[in-house]
Amino acid sequence: MTTVYDCIIIGAGPAGLSAGLYASRGNLKTLILEKGIVGGQLQNTEEIENYPGMDHMTGPQVSDAMEAQTRRFGCEIITNAKVSKVDFNSKPKKVFSGDRVYEAHSIILASGSEHRHLGVPGELELAGKGVSYCAVCDGAFFKGRKLAVIGGGSSAVEEGNFLTKYASAVTLIHRRNELRAERILQKRFENNPKSSIIWNTVVEKINGDMLGVSSLTLRNIETNELSDFPCDGVFIYVGLSPNTDFLEGVVAVDGQGKVISNEKMETNIQGVFVAGDVRNTPLKQAVTAASDGSVAATMAIAYVESLDD
Ligand code: NAP
Repeated sequence: MTTVYDCIIIGAGPAGLSAGLYASRGNLKTLILEKGIVGGQLQNTEEIENYPGMDHMTGPQVSDAMEAQTRRFGCEIITNAKVSKVDFNSKPKKVFSGDRVYEAHSIILASGSEHRHLGVPGELELAGKGVSYCAVCDGAFFKGRKLAVIGGGSSAVEEGNFLTKYASAVTLIHRRNELRAERILQKRFENNPKSSIIWNTVVEKINGDMLGVSSLTLRNIETNELSDFPCDGVFIYVGLSPNTDFLEGVVAVDGQGKVISNEKMETNIQGVFVAGDVRNTPLKQAVTAASDGSVAATMAIAYVESLDD
C-alpha cells in the first residue's frame, strides 16, 4: 500500500526544513524529498551573521540544528531523491523521484536555486580545475594563490572576502562601475588589504589546461579592449536560477522562472504552496526562507483540514 502523506515538501534548505517543522508539529504526516544533502545554500555558507539568534554559527551548523529540530517532530526526510516530475491534477497529488511515486494531499515547493553559469569558453572544461562556484568548498585549495571572483552581488563580495583567508590576492571583476552587494559587505571587502576590484569588465574566456586555470581573457565594456589577467582560480557568483525544471508547464512562473505566489505562499494550483528562493521573493535570505516555510506549512495545514469538511 502506498503511503499517502498529508504534505510533501520538495527541498530541504531552510525553507523546506522550516516548512517540515511547522507541518509535522501541526500534525501533518510530512515527507521532505531532497535532491542532494540537507541544508541547501546553507551548506555553501561559511558564517551566518544575519539570522537573529544564530550568531557565530556556520551554515552547516545552522542546517544541522534545523534538521534535528524538524526530525524531532516526526518529519521524514529522504536525501538524494531528485524529483523529476509532478502530477498535481491527480488526487492525491503525485511526486515522481527515480522509480518511486510519492503521494500527498498538499505540496510545498522549496526547491531553492542554483548558481548561474557565465557561459564562456573554458568554464565547463575547467570546472573543478580552478573554476568554482563554492568558496567554502574549494577555497582551501588556493593557499597563497591569486584568485578572481566574478560578480557584484552580495555572494561575490562575501565569498571574495572569505577567499582572502587563503589566497594571496583576490580581485573582483564586475561588469558595471558599482556593486549591488550589501554596503556592510562592500566596506569589508574594500578595507581588506588583499582585495582589489576591476570595474566595467567582463570575462570573455577562461584559459588553462589539465593542470588548472592560468588566466582570464577580459574585455573592458567601455573600450572593448581585451587583456589577459593571470590567476590560479576563478570563483563565479553571477546570480541564482530557480530550480523549477520538474515544474515546467505545471505551475505559473514569472519572467525569471520563479514560482508566482501571494502572501499566503499559494501558487496558482490549489493545495500547492511555495517557499524560499524558488519563489518570486524580493529578499533571499535564510531567515526569509524559513519565514516563507512557516507560512506555507500553516496554509497547507488549513488546506488539508478543509479536505475533511
Ligand atoms: P545577485 O544579487 O543577483 O548578483 C549577481 C551579480 O552578478 C550582479 O552583480 C550582476 O551584475 C552579476 N552578473 C549577472 N550576470 C552576469 C554575467 N553574465 N556576467 C558578469 N556578471 C554578471 O546574486 P547573488 O550575489 O548570488 O545574491 C543572490 C541573493 O542572495 C540576493 O538577494 C542577495 O542579497 C542574497 N545574498 C545575501 C547574502 C547576505 O545577506 N550575507 C549573501 C549572499 C547572497 P549587475 O549588478 O550588473 O546586474
